[in-house]
Parts: sequence; structure tokens; C-alpha cells
Amino acid sequence: MAFWGDYHTHTVYSHGKGSIEDSVLKAAKLGLRELAITEHGFNHLCYNLRRGELAKMREQAEMLAEKYPQVKLYIGVEANILSPNGKIDVREADKPKLDLTVCGYHKLVRAFPASLQYFLPNNIGLSGAKTIARNTAAYLSALEKNEIDILSHPGNSCKCDVREVARACKYFGTYFELNGKRIALSDEELAAAAEEGCEFIASSDAHSPRRIADFAVPLQRIERVGIPLSRLANYERLPLFRSGKCKDTKEGENVTGEEF
Ligand SMILES: [Zn+2]
Ligand SMILES: [Zn+2]
Repeated sequence: MAFWGDYHTHTVYSHGKGSIEDSVLKAAKLGLRELAITEHGFNHLCYNLRRGELAKMREQAEMLAEKYPQVKLYIGVEANILSPNGKIDVREADKPKLDLTVCGYHKLVRAFPASLQYFLPNNIGLSGAKTIARNTAAYLSALEKNEIDILSHPGNSCKCDVREVARACKYFGTYFELNGKRIALSDEELAAAAEEGCEFIASSDAHSPRRIADFAVPLQRIERVGIPLSRLANYERLPLFRSGKCKDTKEGENVTGEEF
């Protein structure tokens, strides 16, 4: 397969169907070299991964690494942005247990009372310009304060200045995700992100093994906007993640997030 990895997928540990092994098996059948299981972050009120489950996931991952050596497996999380000052729901103690941090905005997360607006879709509650400014600042702070490898579905339920967010992704070395379920951005916004020079990554955001490596939505959109396939970090190559935990190729910069 032309895509070498899928770095945003879910299993029964949060909001998905199927076990980690079901997902690895599917990835192996497709010929993927790498797969990341990135369950919904700990503060999500409906689909959260429980911190206690991480150890079990890692045990399974070790077993699967022996059984399917052809697929490099990452155990990660899809963290939630919790506040305008860039707080996310990955604590310092979680970091050694995670190979990869995907992060995005989701509604219905435990972020109140300090950040009530982060419990609700960010497209409501304030005037358009104020909402966009607030959300853009939240994205930028999250990228600055946390070692986020992939920014998931930018702009989804969280209107922002896409050009600014893409510029920050480039600056901090975070991949700007093109999500396999839905891309909330207009063609103009995607073109603006591309102009800023950020690197894109296509993710399936699969919630069942059969959808792993389904990149139809990103492929259709980049073709329409005129973004070349070479801009996708997982197309005929392997990404170099900012955290660098699973690679010897890049040292992490050890940017730490605010404790909470
Ligand atoms: Zn998500
Ligand atoms: Zn997801």
C-alpha cells in the first residue's frame, strides 16, 4: 500500500469496536508498516480511556509485537484541549506510557468549571470573531506547551484561524491531520494551510478495524485543492514525530505541559 502507516485509530478501549489485535491484523493484511492506537483522552465524559488500562494495552502491544513483527505498533492517546491556555488531558506521569500524542478539540470533556466553553462546541457562545480568536489561541498554546505529534481534525467543532494554526504546526513540528472521517475546513482554508508549509498526515480515525487506512476523504480533498501527495508524511514514507519516542531519528525537545 502506498500509505505506510495509520496513526489515529480507536479500539474497544475507548470509542471503537474490535480489539488491538483485530486492528493490527487488519494493518498487517493491508501491508501497513506502522499503526497507532490512539484512544480518546482521559477527560472525555463519554469515550475516555481510563488511565489504569494503559498498562494492559502496553502488555498487549508487547505480545503483538512478537506475533506481528511486520507492524510497528504505537500506543498513544487522542488528547483533548481543555482550556484557552492550552491545557490538555495528558499529565506528566502519563507521558512515559505513551508512544504518541494526537490531540484535538472535542466537546463534552471535563474542563469545567474554569473553562465551561470547552465543554460545549466551540462554535457557539461568542461572536464569530471572538470565538475564532479564542480557539486559535487555544490551539497555539496547546501546540507550544505540549509535545503534540498530530493535531487531529483541526477546526472540527472549533472554528479557528487555520493559517495561524498551520503556521504553528510547522513551527513546532506537529503534523496537521487530514482526517478520514471528516475534514471540517473549506478548500480555501486547506489551501492556506498548505501555503504555510506545514506537513500533513492522513489518518483514518478508524473506530473499527475495517476502516483502518481508509484515506478516501483526505485523498479526495487534497486532489481538489491541489496539494501534492508528497506533502503527506505517511505517503510512501514514515513520519518523524515531534516526540521522537518511537524513533531513534529525532530527539524530543522535552516541551512540558502545564500540570493540573
Ligand atoms: Zn477526534
Ligand atoms: Zn479519533
